[in-house]
Amino acid sequence: MSLDWIADELHRLDANELRRHPRNCEPLPGGRCRVDGALCVNFASNDYLGLANDPRVIAAAVRASELYGAGAQASALVSGRTPIHAMLETELARFEETEAALLFPSGFAANVGVIGSLVDESDVVLCDRLNHASLIDGCRLSGARFRVYGHCDLEQLARELDKARDARRRLIVTDSLFSMDGDIAPMRELAELADRTESMLLVDEAHATGVYGEQGTGLCEEISQLRGLVRIGTLSKAIGSQGGFLAGTRDLIEWVRNTARTQMFSTALTPAACGAALESLQIIRTDTSRRDRVRENSRQLRARLQARNWSTLGAPDSPIIPIVVGDPQQTVAMSQRLLSQGFFVPAIRPPTVPQGTSRLRISLSALHFGADLDRFCECLSSLGDLKQP
Ligand SMILES: *Cc1c(COP(=O)(O)O)cnc(C)c1O
Repeated sequence: MSLDWIADELHRLDANELRRHPRNCEPLPGGRCRVDGALCVNFASNDYLGLANDPRVIAAAVRASELYGAGAQASALVSGRTPIHAMLETELARFEETEAALLFPSGFAANVGVIGSLVDESDVVLCDRLNHASLIDGCRLSGARFRVYGHCDLEQLARELDKARDARRRLIVTDSLFSMDGDIAPMRELAELADRTESMLLVDEAHATGVYGEQGTGLCEEISQLRGLVRIGTLSKAIGSQGGFLAGTRDLIEWVRNTARTQMFSTALTPAACGAALESLQIIRTDTSRRDRVRENSRQLRARLQARNWSTLGAPDSPIIPIVVGDPQQTVAMSQRLLSQGFFVPAIRPPTVPQGTSRLRISLSALHFGADLDRFCECLSSLGDLKQP
C-alpha cells in the first residue's frame, strides 16, 4: 500500500480547518514571545509562574549539565539516575510531603506508566470524560475495564463504582485542574468517595502544581490524608523545566519503579532538567508572590471580559481561561486576528475538545501585566463580526 491516502486525509483536515501548523515561537521577557517573526503577548504557554526563563533556573540547568553531562546516558534503573536525579526525588517528596517520589521522562509518561502499574485486566478504572489524553491512553493501555464518567459527575461515578464492586481493584483517575476547561475537580468529594468505596484515587496535578495550595504543591494538599491517594505532577508547566513525577508512599514508589514501562524503558531526564526543577522548587517554596500574581491576573482578566459580555469557563482564579466560540473556522479566524494584533491565543479544536465547542484558550502567567490584559480585552471586542455566539 502506498502513502497516498495521507494527502487525502490532510485535505480533509484543511477543509474543516482542523489541520495544525507548527509555529516557531521564541520566548521573550515579560510573558511575551516572537511567533513566526511577530512580537506578541504569549497567552499560549504553561509557564504559569514565569520560571522557565528565570536567570536562576537557567543557571541551575547549566550547572547541572556541567556537573553531570548533557544527557543521562541510560534509563534510571540502569545508570541514568545521577546524584541530581536522586536529589530531585528527595526534594519532590519533601515538597509534596510524601514518603517518596519518582521521576519520569514526562508527565505523559508518568500517567501512562503509573496507571499501568496500578491496574490490569482484573481491575476497573474510572476516568473523567475531560481527563487529559495521557490519562485516557494510560487507562486504555492498562487493560483494565475502562469506564468513563461525565465530567465531575459524582453520582455517575458512584454508580459505576458500585457496579465495579466485584473487581479486584478500583482506580479513579482525574485531573485536578482540567486543561481545556480551566475548572477544578471536586477534590474532597472524590476523596470521600474513594475512601468509602475502598478505591484508589489518582490525581494529575499537571496544571495545579505551583499554582494552587498553601504550599504551592497543588490541589491535593486538601486531601493529603487519603490513604489511596496517588499524586502525579509535571515539571514542565509551572515548574518551568521538563519531566513528570509521582509522589506517594515508599511502597507505591518501589512498586512503580519496578513495573512502570515508561520509566524502565526510557532514558532518565537530562541533568539540566533536574537542576532547573530543583531551583524552581526552591523559588516556589519561598516566594508565594508568583502564584498569587497569576491567580490575581486570572481574576482581573475574567472580570474585564465579563464586563464586556464575554463568557468564560473555569474556576474564578484559574490561569486557564477558555472562551468557547463553537465553530472551528470562526475560532481560528479570531486567533489569527488576535495574533496580527499582538496576542498569541491558541484556537483549540476537535479532537482536543468536543465538536461544536472550539474555543480560544488563554493561559496566564505571573509575568503578564495589567496593561496587557486591558489591551487584550479591547482588542478582542474590536474583532467586530467575529464574536461569541
Ligand atoms: C501537560 C499535561 C500532561 C503531560 O505532561 P508533560 O510533562 O507535558 O508530558 C499530563 N496531564 C495533564 C493534565 C497535562 O495538562
